[in-house]
Amino acid sequence: MKKVFIVANWKSNKITKEARKWIEDLSNSNFNFMDFKEIIICPSFSLLSSVKLGIQEIIGQKLKIKVGAQDISQFDEGAYTGGVNGRQIKELADYVIVGHSERRNNFGEDGKIVNEKISKALKYNLIPILCVSDMKQIHDSRLVIHNSNFIVAYEPTFAIGTGTPDTPENADKMAKNIKEILGEIPVLYGGSVSKFNIKSFTQMSYIDGALVGRASLDVKEFATIIQNA
Ligand code: PEP
Repeated sequence: MKKVFIVANWKSNKITKEARKWIEDLSNSNFNFMDFKEIIICPSFSLLSSVKLGIQEIIGQKLKIKVGAQDISQFDEGAYTGGVNGRQIKELADYVIVGHSERRNNFGEDGKIVNEKISKALKYNLIPILCVSDMKQIHDSRLVIHNSNFIVAYEPTFAIGTGTPDTPENADKMAKNIKEILGEIPVLYGGSVSKFNIKSFTQMSYIDGALVGRASLDVKEFATIIQNA
């Protein structure tokens, strides 16, 4: 049985008490979470600490959940106002999303910045979840991630937050192409994943899970996605 990764990207949503309630509700969900599923929750920086604590206190050993950040500074510690660096993130998280199209498009992050961020993540032993919307973005980052521990999420921009996912067949073809270039690394699909379509993606040969945005905000929907994956 292949290992399936389900990553929740909460984007810029939730405050502490809402995050805590989400964790409580997930903990109370009546599902058989299987050993071969790895769940990663990526909240805003401001919630990382309380989400990590909430998982320890409320979920404990019941379910294996890891924490990821949604971004990382391309700089180390120092005079970089507003930057949250890899050393700070490593205290609270194991993963970090890098190169999400919302960062590329809304914050002007180009291939150079994305690669600097990947390098910082690797320097601090964080596992990058590199988001790419096309093969060019893979080629741009190929050398930085070479021989490292990382995950790629194929996320076509037309599918993000639109309710119109890519077809499982096309996503699988992209995952196959990515693995041909980068080797046997986990490749996830992201873009309008829901409890109704998750299985159509995870059952494909080359797709190892999903990056879930909007549907991860609702804990019932997210728990069903985990169950159905
Ligand atoms: C995402 O945030 O990466 C994403 C895929 O969002 P959504 O599931 O809302 O399309």
